Amino acid sequence: MLLLDGNKLSALIRKEIQDKVRLFCQNDVRPPHLAAVLIGDNPASQTYVRNKIRACDEVGFASTLIKKPASTTQEELLHVIDNLNRNPEIDGYIVQLPLPRHIDEHAVNLAIDPAKDVDGFHPFNFGKMALGLPSLLPATPMGIMMMLERYHIETEGKHCVVLGRSNIVGTPVALLLSKKAKPGNATVTIAHSKTCNLAGLCRQADIIVAALGIPRFLKADMVREGAVVIDVGINRIDDPTTNRGFRLVGDVDFEEVSQKVSAISPVPGGVGPMTITALVENTWRAFSKKS
Ligand code: NAD
Repeated sequence: MLLLDGNKLSALIRKEIQDKVRLFCQNDVRPPHLAAVLIGDNPASQTYVRNKIRACDEVGFASTLIKKPASTTQEELLHVIDNLNRNPEIDGYIVQLPLPRHIDEHAVNLAIDPAKDVDGFHPFNFGKMALGLPSLLPATPMGIMMMLERYHIETEGKHCVVLGRSNIVGTPVALLLSKKAKPGNATVTIAHSKTCNLAGLCRQADIIVAALGIPRFLKADMVREGAVVIDVGINRIDDPTTNRGFRLVGDVDFEEVSQKVSAISPVPGGVGPMTITALVENTWRAFSKKS
């Protein structure tokens, strides 16, 4: 069984980006600059943003964290976004989700300059992706595609079952897997909460991407011998034996499923770090397009 090690692969790709920064950003050329906007004090969001900023710092990017209280109004947030759009020193930025309920996520997304949209959520970038045009791709699906490519997992002609149809993971990864590209050219089934005979569908899959947000949902009896499994899920489950009182598990029952598959990504240490690496890569791309 091949472990699709997102930490190891991320270290390699980030080193490649760091080398490009060192080579390109000498003398008068400033390094790429990522900003992250964090609204409120959701602990998971704080951790994600911290890890993103740290990854940028490690490769030699500049980074700025803009922290605002949960009471921030939509108008105030749109003002922050407008400033980021206008700031020539900022190459890309993210607005960490989820946002407080009183803020319309769609309105925020629409306000982001597509050229700085390193999360790839703006409809302009999403549309370009759907048309197969070069664009800033959503970070998690892009990280998954990088993982498949770098680990030489063949997708052409394979049947992929994607569990979940969200706008940030399930739908875009299904689109990318089915594109006439490498990796891509797969036959894709998108499964969701209303899908019938999900276990039977999964058993037909050569590749399963699990992105439903249900801890250890995918069991060994739902997986064909030799399949490839990509676990996107990040779920906190209680664990009094740890200092934090919880631990992270994926949407796949790793202990069971890993006995049966040819390759599997772990949680933590799989798609999570690849998502951050894709964000770093997108920031590099947004920067180098301007330079
Ligand atoms: P979401 O809640 O937006 O979407 C979940 C999807 O799963 C929905 O489309 C729903 O129809 C489907 N679903 C729910 N129950 C189902 C069932 N019983 N059978 C089949 N489909 C079912 O979630 P999301 O934002 O796409 O995230 C999914 C998981 O991935 C979460 O655990 C999240 O934390 C994780 N995630 C990880 C990363 C990363 O960087 N690794 C990034 C984003 C999300």
